[in-house]
Amino acid sequence: MWYVSTRGMAPRVNFEGALFSGYAPDGGLYMPEELPLLDRETLHRWSTLSYPGLVKELCALFIGSELIPRDDLDGLIDRAFSRFRHREVVPLSRLKNGLNVLELWHGVTYAFKDLSLSCTAQFLQYFLHRREKHVTIVVGTSGDTGSAAIQSVQGAKNMDIIVLLPKGHCSKIQELQMTTVLTDNVHVFGVEGNSDELDEPIKAVFADVPFVRKHNLMSLNSINWCRVLVQMAHHFFAYFRCAASLDSHVLPPVEVVVPTGAGGNLAAGCIAQKMGLPIHLVVVVNCNDIIHRTVQQGDFSLSEAVKPTLASAMDIQVPYNMERIFWLLSDSNSQVTRTLMEQFERTQRLHLSKELHGKCPQVLPGPCFGSQVPRSSPGRWTDS
Ligand SMILES: *Cc1c(COP(=O)(O)O)cnc(C)c1O
Repeated sequence: MWYVSTRGMAPRVNFEGALFSGYAPDGGLYMPEELPLLDRETLHRWSTLSYPGLVKELCALFIGSELIPRDDLDGLIDRAFSRFRHREVVPLSRLKNGLNVLELWHGVTYAFKDLSLSCTAQFLQYFLHRREKHVTIVVGTSGDTGSAAIQSVQGAKNMDIIVLLPKGHCSKIQELQMTTVLTDNVHVFGVEGNSDELDEPIKAVFADVPFVRKHNLMSLNSINWCRVLVQMAHHFFAYFRCAASLDSHVLPPVEVVVPTGAGGNLAAGCIAQKMGLPIHLVVVVNCNDIIHRTVQQGDFSLSEAVKPTLASAMDIQVPYNMERIFWLLSDSNSQVTRTLMEQFERTQRLHLSKELHGKCPQVLPGPCFGSQVPRSSPGRWTDS
């Protein structure tokens, strides 16, 4: 399996290359060169798997056994989920009227990011150990990412993690989760300013390529392909637990509502869809609503500033994973994607062409693909 940049101007890389990269050298994001289409039999076979079982199947499809042999892969994934508090890792709660809640919060830090970060950290460690290398992970956080990243790499020999924590902008619990880990490889710094201002020094550091090379710096946000990959598994799991029966002529659709910030989880759902999983995605945002405007009007333009809400993990001004979604919508057309994203970077605004906007229903099908903004109560995202 090879990975190409959404902007088409960077050499293709294998999984290991994508895992250790942030942006591709042309500024794009890595995506699989080809998405496997899953046939009925495969979906049937997968439908009885446990959640970790699904993560293993998906990772095996996208990693390649020449890089991580299947036995090793299974062991790494079991280890990644060994600290989850629930036996099923992501149990499904059945509420009234066919409404279900997939509980993604049983990891060490209670954030759904524990799922993908714990696997990503295991894979990183696997390669680092084999190559006798060391990396320094640099993370700026407004909450969940910092704690989950720290927990997933703490104590690892070949990794150090530096977390910049905007003082007063995280919840007390998150701040304590980050500042009370005393392992030698964890370095947390409280900084003045909000999460936007925090991005500046981090961008500056990563723009200094010789410095990045010298110190083997990397990030762990959902620009990283591996996080998107692992997050596909819970869309499959949700589908199999909620679909009435897989025996009918047409597989029954299931609607999946995705609380969205940077769009990593949403991109994972879109890829699962392209692979043949009949889910309808509903994207939910708070008052930081750029994706809502994009879906409704094709208007992908920057708002003036991030508006802080109670759901700080969703307070995102630039949902960078939309680039992966534009690439999918344009049928992997890297030239279209590059033109769009370069225009966005120049002008901070973008109006999707009728053609591209009109394509939304193909990848994100039906009237169910909408977005909902709880306007009256910014910060609440559960009342959609
Ligand atoms: C990170 C996070 C989100 C946003 O996820 P994206 O993949 O960035 O869209 C939403 N809710 C919670 C609780 C999160 O931790």
